Amino acid sequence: MENHDFEAGNFEDIPVEFYCDSNKSSFKECTFCKKNLITSSETYLIEKSFKINPNNGKKNTVFEYAICMSCNIKKMNAMSEESISNIKSYMEDNFFDKELELNANSGINSFDKCAVTGKKVKDLLEYNIIGQFFANKMISGYFPLLLSSEIGGEIQELLSQKTKDEFDDFMNTINDIPPELKELFKTKRPILV
Ligand SMILES: [Zn+2]
Repeated sequence: MENHDFEAGNFEDIPVEFYCDSNKSSFKECTFCKKNLITSSETYLIEKSFKINPNNGKKNTVFEYAICMSCNIKKMNAMSEESISNIKSYMEDNFFDKELELNANSGINSFDKCAVTGKKVKDLLEYNIIGQFFANKMISGYFPLLLSSEIGGEIQELLSQKTKDEFDDFMNTINDIPPELKELFKTKRPILV
């Protein structure tokens, strides 16, 4: 994966889509280590997973978290090499050639459709959004991405059992997140890598 376009990316205001449900404002701390994301000099990622109620079209958050780079590296280190190489080749096959250029610098417009399948967001009942941030700004470039939940499922299948076990161990080291969120993380693992 390239250098995440940190140098090439533009800084934008954080879109409301990435706001934390609990306080209706942007994430202020890493969900995992509680590091202050605004004063820290690290970039961080936010993933939010939505489910649409087909009866009224209302969007509900399934899970959401912010993860600082230090925690993300820890998470990566908890993954087996087999899983990482599976995911890398999946990403190269599915992402990089097709939509990356379209996504570049399009900011919030990239929420129109799934970056992998190209399915329109209005046709999706479940999807995730992922963005990269620095302090109180979003870095647009490779991110933000919208992914339909089927992609998450496909990526989960690429994870070796070893990685799943280690990832569960990683989740078990986190004490401060609500138990129901922890269970969600374990059964429906975040797709970010
Ligand atoms: Zn952290």
